[in-house]
Amino acid sequence: MEKLYLVHYGEVGLKGKNRAFFEKKLAQNIKMSLKGMGCAEVRRIYGRLLVMLRSEADVEAIRERLGKVMGIAHFELALETALDINAIRAAALELVKDQQFKTLKVETKRANKRFPLTSPEISAKVGATLLGATGASADMHTPDLRCNIEIVDEAAYVYVEKIRGVGGLPVGASGKVLVMLSGGIDSPVAAWRMMKRGVKALFVHFYSYPYTDKASLEKVEELVAILAAWNYRTLIYLVPFAEVQREIVTQTPAPYRVILYRRMMVRIAQQIASAAKAECLVTGESLGQVASQTLGNLRVIEEAAEIPILRPLIGDDKAEIMELAENIGTFEISTLPHDDCCSLFVPDRPATNASLEAIEAAEAALDVDTLTKLAVESLEKKIIDN
Ligand code: ATP
Ligand code: MG
Repeated sequence: MEKLYLVHYGEVGLKGKNRAFFEKKLAQNIKMSLKGMGCAEVRRIYGRLLVMLRSEADVEAIRERLGKVMGIAHFELALETALDINAIRAAALELVKDQQFKTLKVETKRANKRFPLTSPEISAKVGATLLGATGASADMHTPDLRCNIEIVDEAAYVYVEKIRGVGGLPVGASGKVLVMLSGGIDSPVAAWRMMKRGVKALFVHFYSYPYTDKASLEKVEELVAILAAWNYRTLIYLVPFAEVQREIVTQTPAPYRVILYRRMMVRIAQQIASAAKAECLVTGESLGQVASQTLGNLRVIEEAAEIPILRPLIGDDKAEIMELAENIGTFEISTLPHDDCCSLFVPDRPATNASLEAIEAAEAALDVDTLTKLAVESLEKKIIDN
């Protein structure tokens, strides 16, 4: 009897001819996640992955890790047995021996139609063994414990506990995006939501040293380190933004500053994205959350971009975003105080609905191309491993 995790992937399986690609990506990501944890190999059988474990593997630590692999719908710690009813009985007994239950149901799925017993026959036989050994009674509707048996071509799998995975698609299966990461609550959550849909995230952070201290840099690196558990080896570009801000502050009207900062960030980010082959930018903007996030302002910011800006949190409430940040594990770091470069030199009443004409007129005072080029040339690139 070999111990393994049986991995099921909801949506991934539905992707028609891309299926093999998705499965391979998921298998690769699982291997990367479990590096050094006693995973012997990841095998693909139809509709499932088998995460084979060495005897010394820490099943609890692996369980925790599998809970952070995008693309897993649910997974189970299972025993693999030969295609033999007595072996299946022994595995079921082994699995229930540490469980507390008064009622029980055995369920069987038989993909291998050459197995000599039907699914109901298998369930009945294994059920009788378990009831006899434990004194529990059968309950077909709301059992305390479900014992599941899956019969495939080469082997049978037996498990008692279904563990919910995070869902989504395997990271890397949907391409790359460049996330604009601020150190606040929203943008790490936006990044996570995109990773969940299978993108590999790269990050860019703008900082205003010497106007602000370097605390925001440490914060974003810590945030990226947390997100790297889902995203694996992660790149972050750190871009000095003080020069751009100095120009904006000295050359343009105060109410437009936030929008002008954003338009410059977008232009710089876009160049980084293009060099890194990322197809879209991602922000943590949520409609109406602050003055710069009105429809009108989002549109004016968008006009500075040639590639799409994705805003996965656009329809979310702050409370929903905060809850997700807690679950992901970024909330605590995000709420540490820091000076965000965008709150620098910003008036109490920023424009909430600036027209594109007014913004473009204000921007005419800036040497946009040179400022963009200077910023790109002075960026620093860091790799953060998971
Ligand atoms: P967050 O919680 O992500 O900071 P926010 O609600 O504070 O978002 P803003 O400060 O208006 O909103 O920023 C909107 C978005 O612009 C952020 O979610 C982020 O994607 C991007 N952004 C803001 N500041 C920076 C920065 N210093 N570096 C990179 N991106 C930034
Ligand atoms: Mg912010």
